[in-house]
Amino acid sequence: MTTANTAFSQFGFNKQIITAIKECGYETPTPVQQQAIPKILAGKQVIAIAHTGTGKTASYLLPLLKILGYPQSNEPRCLIVVPVHELCIQVQNAAASLALHTGLRIISVYGGGSIKTQREQLQAGCDFVIGTPGRLLELYKEGSLVFKKVKHLVIDEADKLLDMGFMPQLNKLFEVLPVKRQNLLFSATMNDKVKRLAENFIAFPEYLEIQQEQKTAPGVAQKIYAIPNFSSKAKFLIRFLNDENQAMNKVIVFCRTKAIAKRLSDELKLSFGTSAVRRIDGNMQQQARINAVQALNEGAVRILVATDIAARGLDIRNVTHVINFDVPLIYDDYIHRIGRTGRVFTKGESITYCTEADLWHWKKIEKLTGKKIPFTPLPGDFETEKTPYEEQQFMNRELDKQRRKDDPEYQGAFHEKKSSNKHKRILRR
Ligand code: AMP
Repeated sequence: MTTANTAFSQFGFNKQIITAIKECGYETPTPVQQQAIPKILAGKQVIAIAHTGTGKTASYLLPLLKILGYPQSNEPRCLIVVPVHELCIQVQNAAASLALHTGLRIISVYGGGSIKTQREQLQAGCDFVIGTPGRLLELYKEGSLVFKKVKHLVIDEADKLLDMGFMPQLNKLFEVLPVKRQNLLFSATMNDKVKRLAENFIAFPEYLEIQQEQKTAPGVAQKIYAIPNFSSKAKFLIRFLNDENQAMNKVIVFCRTKAIAKRLSDELKLSFGTSAVRRIDGNMQQQARINAVQALNEGAVRILVATDIAARGLDIRNVTHVINFDVPLIYDDYIHRIGRTGRVFTKGESITYCTEADLWHWKKIEKLTGKKIPFTPLPGDFETEKTPYEEQQFMNRELDKQRRKDDPEYQGAFHEKKSSNKHKRILRR
């Protein structure tokens, strides 16, 4: 039973919205919803630092649905800007469920989707438009999308938008949107770029920082193992996946590069069969990515091997384990990766494999998350594989680079010179 001031009823939502909230299975507002909903309803400008998995999408959708009320005119009154098409679809799905009984019309527009269909949908009229910056501007420039009725602007995953280089497109949007509007900015992290963006377009904002000192999702148990090389990591992962006690029912394995993801998914297929494993990377067609995620979501496969770019923004339910097959080089990605599990009110486990060359990056991630995680020893009966020469050389070069970053005087180890001389000799041939 929820008490009056911890329930959704405290916000004065109409019956249509309350019914939809119940149908979505939400019982209690999450912390970001507790804080953001009353402020947005009061018409405030809000900047919220909340990572994915906190319920941030509903924290802006619910009050905006209440404010917009019922369908009106043909032109959108609310614009939601997101970095990637997967998030676009995810927000649209969330909005469609929450708006189910209101009649409000929601459209999403993104690069890669049919612009013809998007044009036709816009022409038929809508209340909300969710879009990626490029496609929004394209439709605006050709006159298919009219902004003059926009009263509410949401910038979702602002940090990702800026990392992807969308600052010029955002500035262009601010220029053409009506000046009198409510601005809401959501970001998983607050860095200088996000601060600058916020200062540029939001006057007198209210800052909401959810779980300030705990940046990683609270429901995620984090573990880390020191494992020397690719083959040992693959062997260790396969052992875990075979262990029924681990209950690894829905697993995402994150890899730093497409090549590693491909090599790993091929190995996993050898052990578990082709139909047990799917892979997504940034080169794949949109539909193939959506299909792979759907297969995991519906339980048709239990293992998804993914690169960071491909997995960004995807809402995959009840992921039991996130495996960081390597430590991400963009440190924020660690937070995003492990946010795929332990989503709102559920528990999950994240397991990181760390080589000696990854350790330097891992220390930086610990600094970012503000959380020290003790290394778990490998089981006594687990034998690691020998590191192949090429892989060791690669790691040695990485270690040298790191030492040089820490100490500009550092000259580099002998092996690196030797290998670069060998490389030059090969080039001279
Ligand atoms: P988000 O942080 O917006 O990506 O949301 C993560 C997940 O939490 C989504 O699957 C939402 O449907 C779900 N969710 C949002 N709000 C609640 C809530 N109050 N109770 C339970 N689940 C929620």
